Amino acid sequence: MYPHRITPFNIGICDVCVDNKSTQFISVKAFPHKGLQYCSNSTCKNTINEWMKISTIPIETMIKKFGTTISIRRSGGKRESGWVIVSDGYKEIQEGDFWVKIVNSTGKQSKIVTITMLEVWNPIYKNKPFELL
Ligand SMILES: [Zn+2]
Repeated sequence: MYPHRITPFNIGICDVCVDNKSTQFISVKAFPHKGLQYCSNSTCKNTINEWMKISTIPIETMIKKFGTTISIRRSGGKRESGWVIVSDGYKEIQEGDFWVKIVNSTGKQSKIVTITMLEVWNPIYKNKPFELL
């Protein structure tokens, strides 16, 4: 299972055993309502940690790959630099791309984009695989 939307209104059942009430919630950094929930059973907790590992990329790793500032391309085609990654990367389905939150230099604008888009906009990083970071 992958991080999914959880709000205070639908916290309920453990994502692993789908049996016990969930008592804990782990969210994707900078996405407080995206995550996984689990019960007090330690096996469930370990499974959740494994699931988080395969469905998220820590912000530190994202910054190692793309650098402290990145460029984006506006829908009009204009290039804009000085954007910053402010979240972990995460995906919601197995075949899906990783999503990440970025903000502009003033911090007033934010976007949620895929890693593929970041690689297209910042081609210098394309050949640096995550495994080697
Ligand atoms: Zn459980």
